[in-house]
Amino acid sequence: MTNFEHTRRQFVLPDGQLYFAGNSLGPAPKAAAKRVQQTIEAEWGSMVVKAWNTAGWMDQPDKLGNRLAPIVGATPDTITTGDTLSIKVFQALSSAVSMRPERRVILSDSGNFPTDLYMAGGLVNLLQSDYELRVVEPEGIMHALSENVAVVMLTQADYRTGRLHSMKDITQRAHEVGALTVWDLAHTAGAIATNLDTNKVDFAVGCTYKFLNAGPGSPAFIYVAPHLIDTASSVLSGWLGHARPFAFEPEYQAAAGIRHFRVGTPSVLAMASLDAALDVWDEVNINEVHSRSIELSELFIVEMAKSCPSLTLASPTDPYQRGSQVSFNCDYGYPLMQALIAAGVVGDFRAPDIIRFGITPLFLNEDDILKAVGIMQNIVDSASWDKPEFHARKAVT
Ligand SMILES: *Cc1c(COP(=O)(O)O)cnc(C)c1O
Repeated sequence: MTNFEHTRRQFVLPDGQLYFAGNSLGPAPKAAAKRVQQTIEAEWGSMVVKAWNTAGWMDQPDKLGNRLAPIVGATPDTITTGDTLSIKVFQALSSAVSMRPERRVILSDSGNFPTDLYMAGGLVNLLQSDYELRVVEPEGIMHALSENVAVVMLTQADYRTGRLHSMKDITQRAHEVGALTVWDLAHTAGAIATNLDTNKVDFAVGCTYKFLNAGPGSPAFIYVAPHLIDTASSVLSGWLGHARPFAFEPEYQAAAGIRHFRVGTPSVLAMASLDAALDVWDEVNINEVHSRSIELSELFIVEMAKSCPSLTLASPTDPYQRGSQVSFNCDYGYPLMQALIAAGVVGDFRAPDIIRFGITPLFLNEDDILKAVGIMQNIVDSASWDKPEFHARKAVT
């Protein structure tokens, strides 16, 4: 059984903060600072360039992929890490599109995170020749899956409301019409059981700085289904995806296995931080994280309905239709969130009117939920959010 009191003790949780933004940037695992410092001193500092060979830096991206595999339900050697999620979205999508050369439609939904749609738009502009990014309402995806769709690209949990797409049903329908799937796990990796292998997903991508707590700008990851790995081309044919990077051959030849989805030099210090963040997961079961997330979310929703009835739940009420966050619509959401942050309840705001609370069982408990709701009730009842300082817009909301 996962011991959630033990996992909580493994994070740096600043005094006076009830932290509900772990779905945006996870808090620092205590081991991260030590691990990064060790990498700087004992590896970079003392071995310098020799460390590529002696400290295992070259294999780190794939080793970390294997540590991520059980968390997202993947078999070993199907995941590699590196770059940022936007890049991995482009890489997975371009690879998938090239495997359906007779089809011209990339299908996505209007609830998708903007960067995913921007990257897809960039790919369509590059390809030209009547390629189309077709964006439909989230509820319309099943209906829009037709035989001219090359790839359906979706984020499993909506970043504003937490609404989940059915990965299983959509993937199955996509395959029935001969399309491939690219799933973005930004808001589900480390939050719910994604079961990539059993859901027969073709490509998946995700970041490690949200529910996986590896630190700001930590490496992204890409998963490719075992039966596609060797036929899929990476498109971003960087030298570290080459079969023999240090032969410096003029012609590109893809490395065997998931390794050819690597692009360039790994960010070793960020990888060290990711490695430390994954230590927390050694004794954690993702199914238990998901059940615990549901318990905490249900408590939060019930208490909010009692204490702050004027806020409207924006997330689905059915816990199995929801990722690991709870959102509310509120006309004065921006100043309310600023007032909450000033009072130590750290969530975030997403335009036009959503306030979001990430529910992260590795370090949140019932006590945090009850305290946060109490603070929120005070602010709403007294309208103390309505002060000029809480209305001033910051660059990152
Ligand atoms: C957080 C998030 C991103 C961020 O992409 P970066 O390249 O890491 O900045 C992309 N897509 C989704 C769905 C996200 O939630």
